[in-house]
Amino acid sequence: MEKLRNYIHGEWVQSKSGTYTKVINPATQEVLAEVPAGDPADVDAAVKSSEKAFAAWKRIPAGKRIQYLFHLKRLLEENLDELSRTITLESGKTYAESKAEWIRAIENVENACGIPTLMQGDFSEDISLGIDEYMIRQPVGVCACISPFNFPGMIPFWFLPYAIACGNSFIIKPSERVPLTMTKVMELVDKLGLPTGLINMVHGGKSVVDGILEHPGIRAVSFVGSSAIARYVYAKAAANGKRVQAQGGAKNPVIILPDADIDTTTQIVVDSVYGCAGQRCLAASTIITVGEHQHITESLVEMSRNRQTGFGLEESVQMGPVITAESKTRVQGLIEKGIQEGGKLLLDGRNAAISGYEKGNFIKPTIIEGIPLDGELAGTEIFGPVMSLVHIKTIDEAIQFINSNKYGNMACIFTSSGLNARRFRNEADAGNIGINIGVAAPVAQFPFSGWKESFYGDLHGQGKHAVEFYTQTKVVIERWLKEWTRKF
Ligand code: NAD
Repeated sequence: MEKLRNYIHGEWVQSKSGTYTKVINPATQEVLAEVPAGDPADVDAAVKSSEKAFAAWKRIPAGKRIQYLFHLKRLLEENLDELSRTITLESGKTYAESKAEWIRAIENVENACGIPTLMQGDFSEDISLGIDEYMIRQPVGVCACISPFNFPGMIPFWFLPYAIACGNSFIIKPSERVPLTMTKVMELVDKLGLPTGLINMVHGGKSVVDGILEHPGIRAVSFVGSSAIARYVYAKAAANGKRVQAQGGAKNPVIILPDADIDTTTQIVVDSVYGCAGQRCLAASTIITVGEHQHITESLVEMSRNRQTGFGLEESVQMGPVITAESKTRVQGLIEKGIQEGGKLLLDGRNAAISGYEKGNFIKPTIIEGIPLDGELAGTEIFGPVMSLVHIKTIDEAIQFINSNKYGNMACIFTSSGLNARRFRNEADAGNIGINIGVAAPVAQFPFSGWKESFYGDLHGQGKHAVEFYTQTKVVIERWLKEWTRKF
């Protein structure tokens, strides 16, 4: 069985940790590889390499730095099929979902190619007689990202292209549950001819995360994962004097008003709930109907029931398994919790048996109706293919319920009323808003704007926020003495 190695200073090196865990295909339970638990000494080796690379890289003009990104974009596109298959094998999502994930990753590479313009400074002439003041942006140094299992390809690309285009060096710590995708990416990075050590990758879990958070050589940390760990990373990185952006978990509500177009709304909402088996931080989770609801309820049940569940490399399959057996047990436990709280199962996807994949972590589409709004399930991130359906009388109550949510990653509304949509946009306490959209995922030029417990920090991933996060401003006030004394 292949034991994965770290990519440090342009070499594939064994981790200092002797402990390994298995990387498992969630649909078949086949062991794909073994990944090291990791060790702070691995982080230290990566930082030393990154520091050397940074010293030279920051002097290279931005216009030259981005040439490597154009090359990387080409390599990602040429290898799209293999990279997508790898995501499906280790994460379980369907091949189409994996490919769509890469398109989003590549968009960030393209956007970061605009860095020569995006990182330009500001200039004010004559702030006083003969004195000019200007602001330039310079890179911060060695930066690191810690990513979750659910988007093994895209999430590191919310950060990496911007970090290096701005002149920083970069260390990636992939999720230990899906380490193969970034390993494949590093094989491509190796072909770019970048300065040795500019991008390093360290595999592992908590000990590598702590190694990153404690290492004095790392200046900025980007994290994506569950809220509890996001908060931990935010606090510890800040306590160690680092810049930090930490994106956390979610519980995304969707309001359907009686004036929404039922057929298209149903299709969009069902795709949002069950895409990637509900393991998206922008998956719709609580569907709130306002007013009459019989027709939309029947429509949602019918469309959910028909979703094909199975192994993601098979063409007809629309939904894969959840990531681990523990995850399946946890999600099924939450469904049980919803029933105990008074919810009614309209569709029960528990204990799903998929022919040929009996050992897979499958749960079929599930709908639970009428859970109490102040109950445990209504406030808990499920991260599985489960729709909680609640019926509320007015839009005011619906917005009030949304704003009582401790998370604030996304909130959506389906309506044909511009007035209600505008009000929702203004009043909903969430950072990504969808209006007749089921997955309000910002494209690369916008920040991924989680709020409340979905985000700790101030500058988000992607867009201009990324440029601000990966640069520090330097203000220069300048006077040339002869000019100052010249008579006007
Ligand atoms: P996770 O928090 O378990 O793991 C994320 C990273 O943290 C991994 O690299 C892991 O190795 C590390 N980690 C895990 N436990 C740790 C600990 N005790 N100490 C230090 N580091 C630790 O998250 P996950 O299960 O991989 O991903 C799913 C979660 O990520 C969900 O909550 C989802 O909503 C969230 N997510 C959020 C966004 C967003 O943009 N807000 C995007 C994707 C996923």
